[in-house]
Amino acid sequence: MIYDVLIVGGGASGLTAACALALRGRRVVLLEKQARVGRKLLSTGNGRCNLTHLNAGADDYHGSRQAARAALKAWPPKRVMAFFDGLGVPCVADGAGRVYPMSRQAASVLDALRLRCDEAGVETRTGFDVAALTCQNGAFGAAARDGGAVRARCALVCTGGLAAPKLGACGAGYGLLEGFGHRITPRFPAIAALKTPPKPVRGLKGIRAEGEVALLVDGAAARTERGEVLFSDTGVSGIAAMQLARLANEALRAKRRCDVRLNFAPDTDARDMLRRRAGQLPQRAAEDFLNGIVPRRLGQALAGAAGIAPGAAAGELTRAQLDSLAEALTAWTLPVTGTQDFDQAQVTAGGADLRDFDIRAMRSLRAPGLFAAGEVLDVDGDCGGFNLQWAFASAMMAAEGIDEALGK
Ligand SMILES: Cc1cc2nc3c(=O)[nH]c(=O)nc-3n(C[C@H](O)[C@H](O)[C@H](O)COP(=O)(O)OP(=O)(O)OC[C@H]3O[C@@H](n4cnc5c(N)ncnc54)[C@H](O)[C@@H]3O)c2cc1C
Repeated sequence: MIYDVLIVGGGASGLTAACALALRGRRVVLLEKQARVGRKLLSTGNGRCNLTHLNAGADDYHGSRQAARAALKAWPPKRVMAFFDGLGVPCVADGAGRVYPMSRQAASVLDALRLRCDEAGVETRTGFDVAALTCQNGAFGAAARDGGAVRARCALVCTGGLAAPKLGACGAGYGLLEGFGHRITPRFPAIAALKTPPKPVRGLKGIRAEGEVALLVDGAAARTERGEVLFSDTGVSGIAAMQLARLANEALRAKRRCDVRLNFAPDTDARDMLRRRAGQLPQRAAEDFLNGIVPRRLGQALAGAAGIAPGAAAGELTRAQLDSLAEALTAWTLPVTGTQDFDQAQVTAGGADLRDFDIRAMRSLRAPGLFAAGEVLDVDGDCGGFNLQWAFASAMMAAEGIDEALGK
């Protein structure tokens, strides 16, 4: 039996493409190495699946922005939402434009894709770990590690990236594409916590505070984000900090100096506020002086960073000491030594080089009939639904390209 298309990887992009192709009447086999399809999808958005973003634009993407732009043009967020609506999953957006299934359950997105694949006749083979992909006499052959084999007229590689190996990421897809002469750009974690030296953050594990987080590259602010800062024993996490990981990794790889600057009073004249506060609370010990502005333990760390003894009474602090404390509150700067690795990261920066693809259909320029979609390609988005948007949109483009390649 020769299928119209074999799809390697039953994640967000593989399931979407399988569904779209089967609905067009194509004979599709979906090969997934894990025991179940879509495991990563289930973990997205803290189990709620932030599946796209209303205001997604090319600037929200890195790697090949050109490919991201093409995908947004062909499959803008509204069209992705309409597709899911058609699968029985109406979508809703939050105030920031992040889109979720109305059920707020990632499982409903996975079920909708899975069930529609079944209804449309996709043959899903789980436990099929593709070890080799070849092309002979115009037919692709996928060989499983355990000896299974499948043949098809077209092949679509949807194996995802390297982030979160517990959920199936393994990087095998890069090797499959390299076998056809595809180039792979360097890969590193994007959307991951920032690592700092342990000493300054010691004792702050689990502390959360709202603020502004800036990544300084060689001393200059390269990107600033706002949101919740979450401390860990190895550094700084929370969405705002995680958004900076890609840039930090890029800079560190180029041997540039990286620091993270934390501002816990971004819209305040902190010097003025602390001077007035010292007059208001003259007996308050320095270690408690910032209580009410930031969590207590963070206040203690900031007083320490400003070089103020924990027991010093606020009313006895000099103007210079108060100004140092204001500086620590608004510009606490810690060196960035790295980011969490792929084990903890959410997305992979880098991947199959889009210069080797016709980006209108994610069609390989190296091997006729070969396509790729999703995170295996060199496109990654910021946090906020942009990565799934790319996975779905690129899968739809590939499905259309495959349909065209297969002809009538
Ligand atoms: C914890 C977490 C939360 C996230 N939350 C969000 C979010 O809310 N919004 C968002 O936009 N993005 C989010 N992302 C990112 C998003 O999940 C991915 O970018 C997206 O799933 C990529 O889709 P994909 O189809 O390319 O790869 P995947 O969804 O990773 O699917 C790839 C599949 O291929 C299979 N596979 C790999 N190699 C082989 C092989 N050799 N043979 C057979 N099968 C193979 C894997 O087992 C896997 O099932 C999150 C990521 C993580 C880790």
